[in-house]
Amino acid sequence: MTEILTPPTIERLRHELRRRELTVTEVHRLTPHMLRVTLSGPDLADFVSAAPDDHVKLFLATDGGEPEKRDYTPRRFDRAKQALTLDFALHEAGPATEWALQAVPGGRLTVAGPRGSQRISGPIAEWLLIGDETALPAIGRRIEEMAAGTKVTALIAVPGAADEQVFETKAALSCHWLHRPVAAAAEAAPFLAALARLAIAPGTFVWIAAEASVARAVRSYLLEERGHPLPWLKAAGYWRQGQADAHEKIE
Ligand SMILES: Cc1cc2nc3c(=O)[nH]c(=O)nc-3n(C[C@H](O)[C@H](O)[C@H](O)COP(=O)(O)OP(=O)(O)OC[C@H]3O[C@@H](n4cnc5c(N)ncnc54)[C@H](O)[C@@H]3O)c2cc1C
Repeated sequence: MTEILTPPTIERLRHELRRRELTVTEVHRLTPHMLRVTLSGPDLADFVSAAPDDHVKLFLATDGGEPEKRDYTPRRFDRAKQALTLDFALHEAGPATEWALQAVPGGRLTVAGPRGSQRISGPIAEWLLIGDETALPAIGRRIEEMAAGTKVTALIAVPGAADEQVFETKAALSCHWLHRPVAAAAEAAPFLAALARLAIAPGTFVWIAAEASVARAVRSYLLEERGHPLPWLKAAGYWRQGQADAHEKIE
């Protein structure tokens, strides 16, 4: 039945790419494995983030060498306050995680982007958002930006019950939380088992972001075993186990 619907479109918007020098104004342990950092500064005057799964690049100083760059989601942007909120999922190692753990008000961070935004629209009856803790900022933002009454199901893996988040939304949200340790974040099995129990209505747009092999496995399951139509799905690897700075667009 889905096949006869006009497929959704993904509109790609480009933004002027510029580096912004920002100051940390707030650091807050949102949940045991998520650190929320708010950044501010006049450089945010012309900041634009037009889609919930936008990303900015963080420039992280290294000892003497080129800065390391990592991708993070603008979780929230308050233009009046010129305040940009980023949520850092905490894991064992990496310059972005280390920076966040050491961040204190008054600290500085260089941020570039978003370079572009992808706006998804069309005859979408429902949304299914699937992701791990790194996708939680994009999922939370999408849910909070949805029009009142929009039907949305979220399937989110986090380490434990205390890592679950509450979203401020008027959407008709059904949230399923999966629990597994960070060390098991590259396993697709919990997602696949939960999906097997989930009905997916025609006209559902599925958005997936997680560890790259997990995102691939979930995407393949939906396309091959559930017959979900390709134009009704967007998947990305937000990180790759054993590899630093790995962003994979899964086409
Ligand atoms: C478009 C996009 C948006 C993103 N938005 C966010 C966001 O808002 N918040 C967020 O927390 N992350 C987000 N990520 C993921 C984040 O960019 C990666 O997790 C990044 O690798 C973290 O950088 P790092 O310096 O901490 O670790 P790296 O130096 O990149 O990696 C070091 C090691 O840690 C491993 N690793 C990386 N991330 C994780 C993880 N989450 N769990 C377990 N092991 C990991 C790597 O495999 C590697 O072995 C996003 C990624 C993309 C592509």
